[in-house]
Amino acid sequence: EEVVEECHIDINTDDCDGCEKCSIACPNNVFILVDEVSSVRDAQVCKRCRVCVAICPNDCITVN
Ligand code: SF4
Ligand code: SF4
Repeated sequence: EEVVEECHIDINTDDCDGCEKCSIACPNNVFILVDEVSSVRDAQVCKRCRVCVAICPNDCITVN
Protein backbone atom coordinates (compact mmCIF):
# COMPACT_ATOMS: atom_id res chain seq x y z
CA GLU A 1 0.00 0.00 0.00
CA GLU A 2 1.31 3.40 -0.96
CA VAL A 3 1.75 5.93 1.82
CA VAL A 4 1.47 9.52 0.67
CA GLU A 5 3.39 11.82 2.97
CA GLU A 6 1.95 15.21 3.72
CA CYS A 7 4.02 17.96 2.14
CA HIS A 8 6.36 19.61 4.66
CA ILE A 9 6.54 22.84 2.65
CA ASP A 10 3.62 25.20 3.04
CA ILE A 11 3.10 28.21 0.78
CA ASN A 12 0.57 30.85 1.75
CA THR A 13 -0.64 31.50 -1.76
CA ASP A 14 -2.85 34.41 -0.66
CA ASP A 15 0.26 36.40 0.20
CA CYS A 16 2.46 35.18 -2.68
CA ASP A 17 2.96 37.78 -5.41
CA GLY A 18 4.88 35.49 -7.75
CA CYS A 19 8.21 37.30 -7.41
CA GLU A 20 10.03 33.97 -7.95
CA LYS A 21 12.69 34.78 -5.35
CA CYS A 22 12.09 31.40 -3.72
CA SER A 23 12.45 29.43 -6.93
CA ILE A 24 15.60 31.32 -7.90
CA ALA A 25 17.14 30.93 -4.44
CA CYS A 26 16.27 27.30 -3.78
CA PRO A 27 19.41 25.23 -4.46
CA ASN A 28 17.33 22.13 -5.15
CA ASN A 29 14.78 23.50 -7.63
CA VAL A 30 11.83 22.68 -5.41
CA PHE A 31 9.50 25.45 -6.62
CA ILE A 32 7.71 26.18 -9.85
CA LEU A 33 5.53 29.15 -10.69
CA VAL A 34 1.98 28.14 -11.63
CA ASP A 35 -0.53 30.85 -12.56
CA GLU A 36 1.81 33.49 -11.10
CA VAL A 37 1.91 31.82 -7.71
CA SER A 38 4.72 29.70 -6.33
CA SER A 39 3.99 25.97 -6.05
CA VAL A 40 5.93 22.99 -4.79
CA ARG A 41 7.28 21.10 -7.81
CA ASP A 42 8.98 18.31 -5.87
CA ALA A 43 9.08 18.26 -2.07
CA GLN A 44 11.25 15.12 -2.05
CA VAL A 45 14.33 17.02 -3.24
CA CYS A 46 14.07 19.62 -0.46
CA LYS A 47 17.01 19.59 1.97
CA ARG A 48 15.27 21.79 4.54
CA CYS A 49 17.94 24.51 4.28
CA ARG A 50 15.19 27.18 4.70
CA VAL A 51 16.79 29.60 2.25
CA CYS A 52 13.32 30.03 0.74
CA VAL A 53 11.81 30.91 4.12
CA ALA A 54 14.46 33.58 4.66
CA ILE A 55 14.23 35.11 1.19
CA CYS A 56 10.46 35.40 0.71
CA PRO A 57 9.57 39.09 1.14
CA ASN A 58 6.01 38.22 2.14
CA ASP A 59 6.76 35.45 4.65
CA CYS A 60 4.72 32.98 2.63
CA ILE A 61 6.81 29.87 3.12
CA THR A 62 6.97 27.49 6.06
CA VAL A 63 9.26 24.46 6.06
CA ASN A 64 8.54 21.89 8.76
S1 SF4 B 1 14.17 24.58 2.45
FE1 SF4 B 1 15.88 24.83 1.00
S2 SF4 B 1 15.76 23.05 -0.35
FE2 SF4 B 1 13.81 23.20 0.71
S3 SF4 B 1 12.48 24.36 -0.65
FE3 SF4 B 1 13.44 25.84 0.76
S4 SF4 B 1 15.28 26.56 -0.28
FE4 SF4 B 1 14.61 24.70 -1.31
S1 SF4 C 1 9.46 34.38 -2.65
FE1 SF4 C 1 7.46 34.38 -1.61
S2 SF4 C 1 6.25 35.90 -2.71
FE2 SF4 C 1 7.99 35.38 -4.00
S3 SF4 C 1 7.22 33.73 -5.34
FE3 SF4 C 1 8.19 32.77 -3.56
S4 SF4 C 1 6.51 32.42 -2.11
FE4 SF4 C 1 5.80 33.91 -3.62
